[in-house]
Amino acid sequence: MKKLVALALATAVSATAFAQDYPNKPVTFVVPFAAGGPTDLVARQLAEAMRKPLGGANIVVENTAGAGGTIAATRVARAPKDGYTLLVWHIGMASTDSLYKKKQFNALEDFEYLGMINDVPMTLLGSNKLNANTYRDFEAHIRANGGKLNLAHAGLGSASHLCGLMWQYAVKLDKSMTTIAYRGTGPAMNDLIGGQVDVMCDQTTNTTAQIEGGRVKAFAVTTAQPLSTHPVLKHYPTLQEMGLKDFNLSIWHGLYAPKGTPPDVLKKLNDALKVALKDPEFVKRQADLGALVVTDSRVTPEGHKKFVADQIAKLKTVIDAAGQYAD
Ligand code: ASP
Repeated sequence: MKKLVALALATAVSATAFAQDYPNKPVTFVVPFAAGGPTDLVARQLAEAMRKPLGGANIVVENTAGAGGTIAATRVARAPKDGYTLLVWHIGMASTDSLYKKKQFNALEDFEYLGMINDVPMTLLGSNKLNANTYRDFEAHIRANGGKLNLAHAGLGSASHLCGLMWQYAVKLDKSMTTIAYRGTGPAMNDLIGGQVDVMCDQTTNTTAQIEGGRVKAFAVTTAQPLSTHPVLKHYPTLQEMGLKDFNLSIWHGLYAPKGTPPDVLKKLNDALKVALKDPEFVKRQADLGALVVTDSRVTPEGHKKFVADQIAKLKTVIDAAGQYAD
């Protein structure tokens, strides 16, 4: 018994000492998609903004792409519970719960919720080769040619997949487009610019510069409200304005640690995240790309978890209605 108490005490003391010392080596942000895409961009900008509040820690970004983000999420769920391996993931944390019947991890049970990062609108895009210049032309063109056109996305569980699914469902196409999965919309964007694929729905963090540069055509934004204060994105109608009643899709990102990470470490991370979310440079870089940094109760672990639980329920309805599953 004495031995057990001594052991428990020693463990408690070393956990506290450990937390005081944290971080004393590089922290890894695992990104579930290819480098050069929207989630990668959020993670890299956040890493810069969290470095200082984490005492100058070195934060490295690791891209573990595949299976719509579930490979990376599984990796983090099973990583050492020490605060050195964290997950930056988006709406996929909620959508994959319904999309994947065989689950490698449980979204609500296997992670510590550290707080949310941002909300990002999406844009419906076509390659410059596409014979359409307005949303109306675009919809008519896809209706007439759906079966012959390709839709690029970042895997089953990605935001681009979900958006393509929701849009095709909402316009009730006779013939769906052929979908092509990439390891992220970074590489998919290159093929859209090159005209190897025809259509993509992707986050403004990845599309704004390409739209502005005239390298792709944009037709609409996916949010309920128009992006009227953004110099580039204000020119595009919402899908609701174009007649798709209730269409409202905004992509959010959050930060996660493996379940069982010591509370003191979690607190340090949440505190650092909160500082980063108020960093004017981070907020501006995000706003320039159409993203809104989170300022509401979702910056707290409880608020974040509640939001994801609600999203899981909401997206289940959407995915079950579309009747499409990954396995
Ligand atoms: N977030 C993904 C990426 O970074 C794209 C997606 O989910 O559609 O590539």
